Amino acid sequence: MGRPGTGAEPLRVAIIGAGPTGYYAADHLFRQEGVLVEIDMFDRLPTPYGLVRAGVAPDHQKIKSVTAAFDKVAAHPRFRFYGGVEFGKDVTVDDLRSHYHQIFFSTGAQTDRRMGIPGEDLRGSHPATEFVAWYNGHPDYRDCHFDLSQERVAVVGVGNVAVDVARILCRSAEELARTDIADHALEALSRSRVKEVYLLGRRGPAQAAFTNPEIKELGELADADVTALPDEIELDPLSRAALEKSQDRSSLKKVEILNDYARRASTGKSKRLILRFLVSPVEFRGNSAGEVVGMRLVRNTLYATPTGTLQPKATDRFEELPVGLVFRSVGYKGVPLPGVPFNESWGVILNEKGRVLDPDGKQPIVGEYTAGWIKRGPTGVIGTNKPDAAETVSCMVEDLAEGRTLTPAEPTAAAVEDLVRRRQPKYFSYRDWLRLNEIELQRGRDCSRPRVKLVRVEDMLAALGR
Ligand code: NAP
Repeated sequence: MGRPGTGAEPLRVAIIGAGPTGYYAADHLFRQEGVLVEIDMFDRLPTPYGLVRAGVAPDHQKIKSVTAAFDKVAAHPRFRFYGGVEFGKDVTVDDLRSHYHQIFFSTGAQTDRRMGIPGEDLRGSHPATEFVAWYNGHPDYRDCHFDLSQERVAVVGVGNVAVDVARILCRSAEELARTDIADHALEALSRSRVKEVYLLGRRGPAQAAFTNPEIKELGELADADVTALPDEIELDPLSRAALEKSQDRSSLKKVEILNDYARRASTGKSKRLILRFLVSPVEFRGNSAGEVVGMRLVRNTLYATPTGTLQPKATDRFEELPVGLVFRSVGYKGVPLPGVPFNESWGVILNEKGRVLDPDGKQPIVGEYTAGWIKRGPTGVIGTNKPDAAETVSCMVEDLAEGRTLTPAEPTAAAVEDLVRRRQPKYFSYRDWLRLNEIELQRGRDCSRPRVKLVRVEDMLAALGR
Protein backbone atom coordinates (compact mmCIF):
# COMPACT_ATOMS: atom_id res chain seq x y z
CA MET A 1 0.00 0.00 0.00
CA GLY A 2 1.15 3.55 -0.67
CA ARG A 3 1.42 6.44 1.72
CA PRO A 4 -1.72 7.16 3.80
CA GLY A 5 -3.64 10.33 3.04
CA THR A 6 -5.53 9.20 -0.07
CA GLY A 7 -9.11 8.14 -0.78
CA ALA A 8 -7.93 4.53 -0.78
CA GLU A 9 -6.16 4.92 2.56
CA PRO A 10 -7.07 8.10 4.44
CA LEU A 11 -4.62 9.39 7.04
CA ARG A 12 -6.29 8.38 10.29
CA VAL A 13 -5.60 10.65 13.25
CA ALA A 14 -6.74 10.23 16.87
CA ILE A 15 -6.96 13.43 18.90
CA ILE A 16 -7.06 12.92 22.65
CA GLY A 17 -8.70 15.88 24.37
CA ALA A 18 -11.53 17.97 22.92
CA GLY A 19 -10.31 21.37 24.09
CA PRO A 20 -9.42 24.31 21.84
CA THR A 21 -6.04 22.81 20.88
CA GLY A 22 -7.65 19.59 19.65
CA TYR A 23 -10.04 21.56 17.43
CA TYR A 24 -7.31 23.87 16.13
CA ALA A 25 -5.23 20.82 15.21
CA ALA A 26 -8.20 19.16 13.49
CA ASP A 27 -8.84 22.34 11.54
CA HIS A 28 -5.20 22.60 10.42
CA LEU A 29 -5.20 18.93 9.40
CA PHE A 30 -8.39 19.21 7.36
CA ARG A 31 -6.91 22.22 5.55
CA GLN A 32 -3.85 20.29 4.31
CA GLU A 33 -3.97 20.15 0.53
CA GLY A 34 -3.60 16.78 -1.11
CA VAL A 35 -3.96 14.84 2.16
CA LEU A 36 -7.23 13.08 2.91
CA VAL A 37 -7.58 13.00 6.69
CA GLU A 38 -10.03 11.22 8.99
CA ILE A 39 -10.12 12.46 12.56
CA ASP A 40 -11.54 10.82 15.67
CA MET A 41 -11.54 13.07 18.72
CA PHE A 42 -11.75 11.49 22.17
CA ASP A 43 -12.60 13.14 25.47
CA ARG A 44 -13.15 11.66 28.88
CA LEU A 45 -16.10 14.03 29.36
CA PRO A 46 -19.33 13.62 27.39
CA THR A 47 -19.12 17.28 26.37
CA PRO A 48 -16.48 18.92 24.14
CA TYR A 49 -14.56 22.25 24.33
CA GLY A 50 -12.29 21.54 27.34
CA LEU A 51 -11.52 24.72 29.26
CA VAL A 52 -13.85 26.81 27.10
CA ARG A 53 -16.68 25.01 28.87
CA ALA A 54 -15.01 24.11 32.17
CA GLY A 55 -12.51 26.94 32.64
CA VAL A 56 -13.59 30.20 31.00
CA ALA A 57 -15.53 32.21 33.57
CA PRO A 58 -19.32 32.15 33.24
CA ASP A 59 -19.44 35.95 33.11
CA HIS A 60 -17.14 35.90 30.06
CA GLN A 61 -19.69 34.64 27.56
CA LYS A 62 -18.12 36.40 24.60
CA ILE A 63 -14.93 34.34 24.88
CA LYS A 64 -17.04 31.19 24.63
CA SER A 65 -18.33 32.14 21.17
CA VAL A 66 -15.14 30.55 19.81
CA THR A 67 -17.06 27.25 20.00
CA ALA A 68 -18.92 28.18 16.81
CA ALA A 69 -15.62 27.72 14.94
CA PHE A 70 -15.08 24.38 16.72
CA ASP A 71 -18.53 23.16 15.67
CA LYS A 72 -17.69 23.97 12.05
CA VAL A 73 -14.68 21.68 12.31
CA ALA A 74 -16.84 19.00 13.92
CA ALA A 75 -19.33 19.20 11.06
CA HIS A 76 -16.66 17.91 8.65
CA PRO A 77 -17.84 14.60 7.20
CA ARG A 78 -14.62 12.86 8.20
CA PHE A 79 -14.71 14.01 11.86
CA ARG A 80 -16.01 11.88 14.70
CA PHE A 81 -16.33 12.58 18.42
CA TYR A 82 -16.16 9.99 21.15
CA GLY A 83 -17.23 11.71 24.37
CA GLY A 84 -17.11 9.96 27.72
CA VAL A 85 -14.21 7.78 26.53
CA GLU A 86 -11.15 7.97 28.74
CA PHE A 87 -7.67 7.52 27.35
CA GLY A 88 -5.69 5.00 29.40
CA LYS A 89 -8.88 3.36 30.69
CA ASP A 90 -11.35 2.84 27.86
CA VAL A 91 -8.75 3.06 25.10
CA THR A 92 -4.99 2.63 25.47
CA VAL A 93 -2.08 3.82 23.42
CA ASP A 94 -1.76 0.29 22.00
CA ASP A 95 -5.40 0.34 20.89
CA LEU A 96 -4.77 3.60 19.12
CA ARG A 97 -1.60 2.32 17.48
CA SER A 98 -3.58 -0.44 15.83
CA HIS A 99 -6.20 1.96 14.42
CA TYR A 100 -4.43 5.23 13.61
CA HIS A 101 -1.43 6.50 11.66
CA GLN A 102 -0.96 9.41 14.03
CA ILE A 103 -1.96 10.11 17.63
CA PHE A 104 -2.21 13.65 18.94
CA PHE A 105 -2.40 14.41 22.67
CA SER A 106 -4.06 17.67 23.73
CA THR A 107 -5.20 16.92 27.26
CA GLY A 108 -4.29 20.28 28.79
CA ALA A 109 -3.24 20.69 32.40
CA GLN A 110 -5.70 18.95 34.66
CA THR A 111 -4.38 19.61 38.13
CA ASP A 112 -2.88 22.39 40.20
CA ARG A 113 0.65 23.28 41.26
CA ARG A 114 1.41 22.85 44.93
CA MET A 115 2.75 25.68 47.08
CA GLY A 116 4.72 23.40 49.38
CA ILE A 117 4.00 25.27 52.61
CA PRO A 118 2.63 24.01 55.96
CA GLY A 119 -1.14 23.96 56.23
CA GLU A 120 -1.74 23.75 52.50
CA ASP A 121 -4.13 20.84 52.99
CA LEU A 122 -6.15 22.26 55.88
CA ARG A 123 -9.90 22.13 55.43
CA GLY A 124 -10.98 25.30 53.67
CA SER A 125 -7.78 25.56 51.59
CA HIS A 126 -8.58 24.62 48.00
CA PRO A 127 -6.87 24.72 44.64
CA ALA A 128 -8.52 27.45 42.55
CA THR A 129 -8.76 24.92 39.72
CA GLU A 130 -11.37 22.96 41.76
CA PHE A 131 -13.48 26.03 42.46
CA VAL A 132 -13.38 26.98 38.77
CA ALA A 133 -14.38 23.46 37.68
CA TRP A 134 -17.17 23.47 40.28
CA TYR A 135 -18.74 26.78 39.28
CA ASN A 136 -18.47 25.80 35.62
CA GLY A 137 -20.36 22.56 36.14
CA HIS A 138 -17.56 20.04 35.47
CA PRO A 139 -19.20 16.71 36.42
CA ASP A 140 -16.19 15.52 38.46
CA TYR A 141 -16.45 18.58 40.74
CA ARG A 142 -20.22 18.71 41.09
CA ASP A 143 -20.12 17.61 44.72
CA CYS A 144 -17.25 19.81 45.96
CA HIS A 145 -18.04 21.99 48.93
CA PHE A 146 -16.68 25.45 49.63
CA ASP A 147 -17.50 27.14 52.92
CA LEU A 148 -19.03 30.36 51.65
CA SER A 149 -20.30 31.18 55.13
CA GLN A 150 -16.83 32.64 55.73
CA GLU A 151 -16.56 36.43 55.56
CA ARG A 152 -12.88 36.67 54.66
CA VAL A 153 -11.28 34.84 51.77
CA ALA A 154 -7.76 34.88 50.32
CA VAL A 155 -6.83 34.02 46.75
CA VAL A 156 -3.12 33.29 46.43
CA GLY A 157 -1.60 34.38 43.11
CA VAL A 158 -2.39 37.25 40.78
CA GLY A 159 -2.84 35.51 37.44
CA ASN A 160 -6.05 35.67 35.41
CA VAL A 161 -7.40 32.56 37.12
CA ALA A 162 -7.01 34.25 40.52
CA VAL A 163 -8.83 37.29 39.10
CA ASP A 164 -11.65 35.04 37.79
CA VAL A 165 -12.03 33.42 41.21
CA ALA A 166 -12.00 36.74 43.07
CA ARG A 167 -14.49 38.26 40.63
CA ILE A 168 -16.91 35.35 40.87
CA LEU A 169 -16.72 35.58 44.68
CA CYS A 170 -17.46 39.31 44.48
CA ARG A 171 -20.28 39.23 41.94
CA SER A 172 -23.80 39.81 43.20
CA ALA A 173 -26.41 37.08 42.81
CA GLU A 174 -28.12 39.23 40.16
CA GLU A 175 -24.92 39.47 38.12
CA LEU A 176 -24.29 35.73 38.37
CA ALA A 177 -27.86 34.90 37.45
CA ARG A 178 -27.26 36.43 34.01
CA THR A 179 -24.49 33.91 33.26
CA ASP A 180 -24.30 30.19 32.55
CA ILE A 181 -22.73 29.47 35.94
CA ALA A 182 -23.75 25.99 37.15
CA ASP A 183 -27.03 26.03 39.10
CA HIS A 184 -25.48 24.51 42.22
CA ALA A 185 -22.83 27.26 42.27
CA LEU A 186 -25.38 30.00 41.64
CA GLU A 187 -27.40 28.73 44.55
CA ALA A 188 -24.39 28.47 46.89
CA LEU A 189 -22.94 31.84 45.86
CA SER A 190 -26.32 33.54 46.28
CA ARG A 191 -26.18 32.55 49.95
CA SER A 192 -22.49 33.52 50.28
CA ARG A 193 -21.52 35.62 53.31
CA VAL A 194 -18.17 36.56 51.82
CA LYS A 195 -17.39 40.22 52.54
CA GLU A 196 -13.65 40.62 51.95
CA VAL A 197 -11.56 38.99 49.27
CA TYR A 198 -7.76 39.36 49.28
CA LEU A 199 -5.77 38.76 46.11
CA LEU A 200 -2.15 38.06 47.08
CA GLY A 201 0.74 38.79 44.71
CA ARG A 202 4.24 37.73 45.72
CA ARG A 203 5.89 40.30 43.44
CA GLY A 204 5.00 43.92 42.72
CA PRO A 205 2.22 45.49 40.63
CA ALA A 206 4.43 45.77 37.53
CA GLN A 207 5.10 42.01 37.57
CA ALA A 208 1.51 40.88 38.14
CA ALA A 209 0.47 38.10 35.73
CA PHE A 210 -3.12 39.35 35.22
CA THR A 211 -3.90 41.27 32.05
CA ASN A 212 -5.36 44.77 31.86
CA PRO A 213 -8.92 44.08 30.62
CA GLU A 214 -9.30 41.53 33.44
CA ILE A 215 -8.03 43.87 36.15
CA LYS A 216 -10.13 46.76 34.82
CA GLU A 217 -13.22 44.62 35.08
CA LEU A 218 -12.63 44.35 38.84
CA GLY A 219 -13.19 48.09 39.11
CA GLU A 220 -16.65 47.80 37.57
CA LEU A 221 -18.30 45.25 39.88
CA ALA A 222 -21.87 46.08 40.86
CA ASP A 223 -21.57 45.33 44.54
CA ALA A 224 -17.86 45.21 45.41
CA ASP A 225 -15.36 48.02 45.97
CA VAL A 226 -11.86 47.31 44.77
CA THR A 227 -8.88 48.71 46.59
CA ALA A 228 -5.08 48.43 46.88
CA LEU A 229 -2.56 49.66 49.43
CA PRO A 230 -0.70 52.78 48.22
CA ASP A 231 2.65 51.68 49.67
CA GLU A 232 2.41 48.33 47.86
CA ILE A 233 1.52 49.98 44.55
CA GLU A 234 4.38 52.48 44.75
CA LEU A 235 7.06 51.07 42.45
CA ASP A 236 10.39 50.01 43.93
CA PRO A 237 13.52 51.40 42.21
CA LEU A 238 14.19 48.17 40.27
CA SER A 239 10.65 47.95 38.86
CA ARG A 240 10.66 51.66 38.05
CA ALA A 241 13.97 51.37 36.18
CA ALA A 242 12.79 48.27 34.30
CA LEU A 243 9.56 49.98 33.25
CA GLU A 244 11.33 53.16 32.19
CA LYS A 245 13.76 51.15 30.12
CA SER A 246 11.20 48.89 28.45
CA GLN A 247 8.44 51.51 28.13
CA ASP A 248 6.15 48.49 28.01
CA ARG A 249 2.78 50.12 27.48
CA SER A 250 0.67 47.38 28.91
CA SER A 251 2.69 47.23 32.15
CA LEU A 252 2.58 51.03 32.43
CA LYS A 253 -1.19 50.89 31.99
CA LYS A 254 -1.47 48.09 34.55
CA VAL A 255 0.36 50.16 37.15
CA GLU A 256 -1.84 53.15 36.33
CA ILE A 257 -5.03 51.12 36.84
CA LEU A 258 -3.72 49.81 40.17
CA ASN A 259 -2.77 53.32 41.26
CA ASP A 260 -6.31 54.39 40.52
CA TYR A 261 -7.60 51.56 42.74
CA ALA A 262 -5.25 52.57 45.57
CA ARG A 263 -6.70 56.10 45.46
CA ARG A 264 -10.33 54.97 45.41
CA ALA A 265 -12.42 55.56 48.50
CA SER A 266 -14.95 52.96 49.54
CA THR A 267 -18.40 53.62 48.08
CA GLY A 268 -20.13 51.43 50.63
CA LYS A 269 -20.72 48.41 48.41
CA SER A 270 -21.35 45.23 50.36
CA LYS A 271 -18.08 43.48 49.43
CA ARG A 272 -14.46 44.56 49.31
CA LEU A 273 -11.75 43.21 47.03
CA ILE A 274 -8.28 44.04 48.30
CA LEU A 275 -5.29 43.68 45.96
CA ARG A 276 -2.07 43.00 47.85
CA PHE A 277 1.47 42.88 46.49
CA LEU A 278 4.93 41.82 47.68
CA VAL A 279 3.55 39.30 50.16
CA SER A 280 3.93 35.50 50.26
CA PRO A 281 2.04 33.05 52.46
CA VAL A 282 4.59 31.05 54.43
CA GLU A 283 2.09 29.02 56.44
CA PHE A 284 -1.65 28.47 56.59
CA ARG A 285 -2.93 28.51 60.16
CA GLY A 286 -5.49 25.96 61.32
CA ASN A 287 -7.72 25.52 64.36
CA SER A 288 -8.06 22.34 66.42
CA ALA A 289 -10.67 21.04 63.97
CA GLY A 290 -8.16 21.26 61.13
CA GLU A 291 -9.89 24.19 59.47
CA VAL A 292 -7.99 27.09 58.01
CA VAL A 293 -8.37 30.25 60.09
CA GLY A 294 -5.66 32.43 58.61
CA MET A 295 -2.22 32.65 57.14
CA ARG A 296 1.16 34.03 57.97
CA LEU A 297 2.46 36.34 55.28
CA VAL A 298 6.02 37.48 54.78
CA ARG A 299 6.75 40.78 53.09
CA ASN A 300 8.99 40.52 50.04
CA THR A 301 11.40 42.80 48.26
CA LEU A 302 12.50 42.34 44.68
CA TYR A 303 15.93 41.49 43.33
CA ALA A 304 17.14 41.14 39.75
CA THR A 305 18.30 37.73 38.52
CA PRO A 306 21.26 37.56 36.11
CA THR A 307 18.77 37.56 33.20
CA GLY A 308 17.16 40.73 34.56
CA THR A 309 13.84 39.26 35.78
CA LEU A 310 12.68 40.66 39.07
CA GLN A 311 12.04 37.96 41.65
CA PRO A 312 10.70 38.07 45.23
CA LYS A 313 12.96 37.75 48.25
CA ALA A 314 11.53 37.34 51.75
CA THR A 315 12.30 40.00 54.37
CA ASP A 316 12.05 39.53 58.13
CA ARG A 317 8.71 41.33 58.29
CA PHE A 318 5.64 39.17 58.83
CA GLU A 319 1.92 39.72 59.28
CA GLU A 320 -1.09 37.55 60.10
CA LEU A 321 -4.08 37.55 57.77
CA PRO A 322 -7.21 36.02 59.29
CA VAL A 323 -9.23 34.23 56.58
CA GLY A 324 -11.59 31.27 56.73
CA LEU A 325 -11.32 30.19 53.09
CA VAL A 326 -8.31 30.04 50.79
CA PHE A 327 -7.98 29.47 47.06
CA ARG A 328 -4.49 28.63 45.84
CA SER A 329 -4.24 29.98 42.31
CA VAL A 330 -0.56 29.45 41.58
CA GLY A 331 -0.90 27.73 38.21
CA TYR A 332 -2.23 24.57 36.61
CA LYS A 333 -0.12 21.46 36.10
CA GLY A 334 -0.28 18.69 33.50
CA VAL A 335 -0.81 15.07 34.51
CA PRO A 336 1.00 12.16 32.84
CA LEU A 337 -0.94 9.98 30.39
CA PRO A 338 -0.51 6.20 30.69
CA GLY A 339 2.17 5.04 28.26
CA VAL A 340 3.20 8.54 27.15
CA PRO A 341 6.64 9.96 28.10
CA PHE A 342 6.37 12.80 30.58
CA ASN A 343 8.63 15.49 31.99
CA GLU A 344 7.61 15.49 35.66
CA SER A 345 9.28 18.72 36.66
CA TRP A 346 7.67 20.74 33.86
CA GLY A 347 4.37 18.83 33.93
CA VAL A 348 4.39 18.35 30.15
CA ILE A 349 4.68 15.49 27.65
CA LEU A 350 8.32 15.10 26.66
CA ASN A 351 8.41 16.63 23.18
CA GLU A 352 10.21 18.71 20.64
CA LYS A 353 8.03 21.08 18.60
CA GLY A 354 5.15 18.72 19.38
CA ARG A 355 6.86 15.46 18.38
CA VAL A 356 6.70 13.15 21.44
CA LEU A 357 10.19 12.00 22.41
CA ASP A 358 11.43 8.70 23.69
CA PRO A 359 12.86 9.44 27.17
CA ASP A 360 15.97 7.31 26.60
CA GLY A 361 17.33 8.32 23.22
CA LYS A 362 15.37 11.63 23.08
CA GLN A 363 14.34 10.64 19.55
CA PRO A 364 10.79 11.21 18.22
CA ILE A 365 8.40 8.31 18.77
CA VAL A 366 6.84 7.53 15.40
CA GLY A 367 3.22 8.64 15.15
CA GLU A 368 2.90 10.46 18.51
CA TYR A 369 2.37 14.20 18.85
CA THR A 370 1.20 16.79 21.32
CA ALA A 371 0.09 20.42 21.57
CA GLY A 372 -1.46 22.91 23.98
CA TRP A 373 -0.84 23.12 27.72
CA ILE A 374 0.32 19.48 27.92
CA LYS A 375 3.01 20.38 25.33
CA ARG A 376 4.23 23.75 26.57
CA GLY A 377 2.76 24.26 30.06
CA PRO A 378 -0.24 26.29 31.26
CA THR A 379 0.41 29.65 29.61
CA GLY A 380 -1.33 31.93 27.17
CA VAL A 381 -4.93 32.50 26.15
CA ILE A 382 -7.17 30.22 24.07
CA GLY A 383 -5.89 31.66 20.79
CA THR A 384 -2.27 30.91 21.76
CA ASN A 385 -3.09 27.27 21.09
CA LYS A 386 -3.77 27.90 17.43
CA PRO A 387 -0.18 28.55 16.32
CA ASP A 388 0.98 25.96 18.84
CA ALA A 389 -1.25 23.30 17.23
CA ALA A 390 -0.12 24.48 13.78
CA GLU A 391 3.53 23.89 14.70
CA THR A 392 2.74 20.30 15.67
CA VAL A 393 0.58 19.72 12.58
CA SER A 394 3.51 20.89 10.40
CA CYS A 395 5.62 18.17 12.00
CA MET A 396 2.84 15.62 11.37
CA VAL A 397 2.63 16.60 7.71
CA GLU A 398 6.41 16.57 7.32
CA ASP A 399 6.62 13.10 8.87
CA LEU A 400 3.81 11.86 6.66
CA ALA A 401 5.63 13.09 3.56
CA GLU A 402 8.72 11.20 4.66
CA GLY A 403 6.78 8.02 5.35
CA ARG A 404 7.21 8.19 9.13
CA THR A 405 3.77 7.11 10.37
CA LEU A 406 2.41 4.20 12.29
CA THR A 407 1.22 1.21 10.26
CA PRO A 408 -2.05 0.31 11.96
CA ALA A 409 -3.52 -3.17 11.48
CA GLU A 410 -7.11 -1.90 11.31
CA PRO A 411 -7.14 1.69 10.04
CA THR A 412 -10.90 2.07 9.65
CA ALA A 413 -13.56 4.20 11.31
CA ALA A 414 -15.81 1.14 11.66
CA ALA A 415 -13.19 -0.81 13.60
CA VAL A 416 -12.83 2.05 16.10
CA GLU A 417 -16.55 2.45 16.52
CA ASP A 418 -16.73 -1.25 17.23
CA LEU A 419 -13.96 -1.02 19.82
CA VAL A 420 -15.51 1.98 21.57
CA ARG A 421 -18.94 0.35 21.67
CA ARG A 422 -17.40 -2.63 23.41
CA ARG A 423 -15.31 -0.64 25.86
CA GLN A 424 -17.66 2.24 26.59
CA PRO A 425 -21.19 1.56 25.41
CA LYS A 426 -22.37 4.83 26.96
CA TYR A 427 -20.15 7.01 24.77
CA PHE A 428 -21.48 10.30 23.42
CA SER A 429 -21.31 11.18 19.72
CA TYR A 430 -21.16 14.74 18.39
CA ARG A 431 -24.80 14.42 17.45
CA ASP A 432 -25.50 13.58 21.12
CA TRP A 433 -23.58 16.70 22.14
CA LEU A 434 -25.53 18.89 19.70
CA ARG A 435 -28.75 17.63 21.27
CA LEU A 436 -27.44 18.26 24.79
CA ASN A 437 -26.38 21.72 23.69
CA GLU A 438 -29.87 22.47 22.40
CA ILE A 439 -31.40 21.18 25.66
CA GLU A 440 -29.08 23.38 27.75
CA LEU A 441 -29.81 26.43 25.59
CA GLN A 442 -33.57 25.82 25.84
CA ARG A 443 -33.30 25.49 29.63
CA GLY A 444 -31.47 28.82 29.52
CA ARG A 445 -34.12 30.51 27.36
CA ASP A 446 -36.79 29.35 29.82
CA CYS A 447 -35.23 31.51 32.54
CA SER A 448 -33.51 34.25 30.51
CA ARG A 449 -30.02 32.86 30.96
CA PRO A 450 -27.49 32.07 28.22
CA ARG A 451 -27.56 28.37 29.13
CA VAL A 452 -28.37 26.09 32.04
CA LYS A 453 -25.77 23.34 32.14
CA LEU A 454 -26.33 19.65 32.73
CA VAL A 455 -23.72 18.80 35.32
CA ARG A 456 -24.03 15.09 35.91
CA VAL A 457 -23.29 12.42 33.35
CA GLU A 458 -26.44 10.51 34.40
CA ASP A 459 -28.52 13.62 33.76
CA MET A 460 -26.98 13.96 30.32
CA LEU A 461 -27.82 10.36 29.52
CA ALA A 462 -31.35 10.84 30.86
CA ALA A 463 -31.82 14.03 28.86
CA LEU A 464 -30.99 12.03 25.74
CA GLY A 465 -33.50 9.38 26.79
CA ARG A 466 -30.76 6.81 27.33
P1 NAP B 1 -0.42 32.44 35.72
O1 NAP B 1 -0.81 33.52 34.80
O2 NAP B 1 0.85 31.73 35.46
O3 NAP B 1 -0.40 33.06 37.22
C1 NAP B 1 0.06 32.32 38.30
C2 NAP B 1 0.19 33.25 39.48
O4 NAP B 1 0.58 32.48 40.61
C3 NAP B 1 1.26 34.32 39.32
O5 NAP B 1 0.80 35.49 39.92
C4 NAP B 1 2.44 33.72 40.08
O6 NAP B 1 3.34 34.69 40.55
C5 NAP B 1 1.70 33.11 41.24
N1 NAP B 1 2.47 32.11 41.96
C6 NAP B 1 3.08 31.01 41.48
N2 NAP B 1 3.66 30.32 42.47
C7 NAP B 1 3.41 31.00 43.61
C8 NAP B 1 3.74 30.81 44.98
N3 NAP B 1 4.43 29.74 45.36
N4 NAP B 1 3.33 31.72 45.88
C9 NAP B 1 2.63 32.79 45.50
N5 NAP B 1 2.27 33.04 44.22
C10 NAP B 1 2.66 32.16 43.29
O7 NAP B 1 -1.50 31.25 35.78
P2 NAP B 1 -3.09 31.22 35.84
O8 NAP B 1 -3.66 32.40 36.51
O9 NAP B 1 -3.39 29.87 36.37
O10 NAP B 1 -3.50 31.28 34.31
C11 NAP B 1 -3.06 30.31 33.37
C12 NAP B 1 -3.14 30.89 31.96
O11 NAP B 1 -4.50 31.04 31.57
C13 NAP B 1 -2.52 32.27 31.88
O12 NAP B 1 -1.82 32.39 30.68
C14 NAP B 1 -3.72 33.19 31.91
O13 NAP B 1 -3.52 34.44 31.31
C15 NAP B 1 -4.74 32.36 31.15
N6 NAP B 1 -6.10 32.80 31.51
C16 NAP B 1 -6.64 33.81 30.80
C17 NAP B 1 -7.88 34.32 31.15
C18 NAP B 1 -8.45 35.44 30.36
O14 NAP B 1 -7.93 35.77 29.30
N7 NAP B 1 -9.46 36.11 30.85
C19 NAP B 1 -8.57 33.78 32.22
C20 NAP B 1 -8.00 32.75 32.95
C21 NAP B 1 -6.75 32.27 32.59
P3 NAP B 1 4.71 34.98 39.76
O15 NAP B 1 4.33 35.78 38.58
O16 NAP B 1 5.51 35.71 40.75
O17 NAP B 1 5.29 33.64 39.38
